[in-house]
Amino acid sequence: MRKKLDMLEELQEVDQLIDTHKAAQQGLQSELSGINQAVDSAREEITILGTRLAQLETEKSGLEVTHAVELENIARSETNMKEIKTNKEFQAVGREITAARKQVTDIEELLLQKIGQIEELSAELVAKNSLCIELADNSAQRATAKQAEIDKIQAEIDADIVRRESAIKGIPASLVKKFTMLREQRCGRALAFATDGYCMGCNMQLPPQLYNNLYKYEELLACPHCQRILILKVRQQ
Ligand SMILES: [Zn+2]
Repeated sequence: MRKKLDMLEELQEVDQLIDTHKAAQQGLQSELSGINQAVDSAREEITILGTRLAQLETEKSGLEVTHAVELENIARSETNMKEIKTNKEFQAVGREITAARKQVTDIEELLLQKIGQIEELSAELVAKNSLCIELADNSAQRATAKQAEIDKIQAEIDADIVRRESAIKGIPASLVKKFTMLREQRCGRALAFATDGYCMGCNMQLPPQLYNNLYKYEELLACPHCQRILILKVRQQ
């Protein structure tokens, strides 16, 4: 019985090691995702800026076309003017030209605005690009280091699993089943130490007869309060 309890204790210890290692691994994994996400969002931002820049360029080209058309119209009207005979017609074309010139001025103002926006955005894009390259470089190094840590822990988990398999071999299947069920129900701990008449799993006092029976190692005894399998641990004096 004592040997069985020792093996259960070993099983609990290795299970807890696996839990701790897996939790550490999960933490590292989410740090790794965070690193990769930062790079992804920096790249995404650059893509958005690039799209905006292309849009501004298109708008600028559109304005340039309109500008050229208006200038052509003015030139044509001015040529036509020379052949106009009546004063009334002359005045009408004159008004057209004035309106067209006003439009040309408006377009030129818009063009200047666009050029300003393009310059600003281009500068921003260059700055963001170099920051992104730096970030990606830096992140790649950090990601590699994190991955190495994750792999190292995986090797430990693999070793734990081997240790668990050999621990489980000496324990009857029904007991392993009971242990596993208890572990799930009791926050990862199926065993509890019994010390000075108390269950250390739930801190409740054990019935004196039960506590005394623990010294006999005749049968598996469970705490009547938390149902964990009890292992006697006499306090070292
Ligand atoms: Zn208990």
